[in-house]
Amino acid sequence: MAPDGATYFRKGFGLKAEVETTLSSDYNGRLVDLLRERDYTLSAGDTTIRLAKEFGFCYGVERAVEYAYQTRHKFPDRRVFLVGEIIHNPHVNARLVQMGIEILHPTEAGFDYSVVRPEDVVILPAFGVTIQDFETLRTIGCVMVDTTCGSVLNVWKRVDVYARDGFTALIHGKYYHEETRATASQVEKHAGGTYLIVRDMAEAERVMAYIEDGGDRDAFLAHFREKASPHFDPDVHLARIGVANQTTMLARESLAIGDRVGVAMERRYGAEHRTEHFRTFDTICSATQDRQDAVNALLLEPLDVMLVIGGYNSSNTISLAALCAERVRTYHVEDAEGIVPETGVIRHRDAVTHDEVESASWLPQAGALRIGLTAGASTPNNKIGEAVARIFRARGIDPATVV
Ligand code: SF4
Repeated sequence: MAPDGATYFRKGFGLKAEVETTLSSDYNGRLVDLLRERDYTLSAGDTTIRLAKEFGFCYGVERAVEYAYQTRHKFPDRRVFLVGEIIHNPHVNARLVQMGIEILHPTEAGFDYSVVRPEDVVILPAFGVTIQDFETLRTIGCVMVDTTCGSVLNVWKRVDVYARDGFTALIHGKYYHEETRATASQVEKHAGGTYLIVRDMAEAERVMAYIEDGGDRDAFLAHFREKASPHFDPDVHLARIGVANQTTMLARESLAIGDRVGVAMERRYGAEHRTEHFRTFDTICSATQDRQDAVNALLLEPLDVMLVIGGYNSSNTISLAALCAERVRTYHVEDAEGIVPETGVIRHRDAVTHDEVESASWLPQAGALRIGLTAGASTPNNKIGEAVARIFRARGIDPATVV
């Protein structure tokens, strides 16, 4: 319990001024400030770096990280826990650990809260937590600092209404992602509430085929075992569907999946019954949309190579990298250290195997070069600036001379 008796906080502690200096020294970057001042362009010699106009920390991430700093400041003598990662950036999470915040790591069976005592403080991440986790913490009676992003709460409201009205929530997302697990759990507020998660259009097509023509029930259940409510039955729960999405998916694909469900319902039940069987609502957050729009605009320019910076488990970063790879040679690096100027090697995520791989000679040593750059919503500016410095060094340019 906090000194004033409250145990649940979701608007911070009014300590913005107290943590501002630390936050700015932890995450701001000179080269990124310079890029912004110079119309998102830095040139030195025959190397030009173009930064997408929307990139890096989104409003939800900024808020969550700031609340975590405020929490440490507010409770200097308490044990402070964090449920999983605050956001998907290894440096930000490591910095919180350095500040004495202990991360609770999930196991196969979920989070183990047995270490948490009523006098402890627990931070909920920007992705939110499942209903069950929330209830467990409430029962313990610890202080809860909830940093769940408002855009995630909007998705929850949608899913809640679908379940209330007897619609299965079809979620375009990654079933193992914290946000999607929390979103899916919202259906449990209503008896019989049901969810089904699809990763992409190919997986959505399996669902559409079952809606339109039926199919092998057991094979369907085996495929979606981890991606559906335990009581899910395709012969019962595909009759009425409400579509929602994880906030950080590829917007284009989410919209296409929504449209495709509408078509499947019309084919199955007739156009006149469409609204009885189908609802949809685009729940991609505006920050994700803005970053995808900005990178699409950048990709209209002539670029030799594109660099995308962000955690390998960061969904919105993976979406950005997928967009770029359609148009230009693209490397998704987890952080600036993936670029090794001394050897000309880059360590990056392979889009097919999802493993980290090394590529040599990714940048030509000579000749004019235009490099596009963007970063996912959980990448701080100092890491983006560090990547810019390493790109210049890889081209034999001292970043200190870039002014
Ligand atoms: S990516 Fe969107 S939903 Fe996620 S924290 Fe940022 S603003 Fe919120």
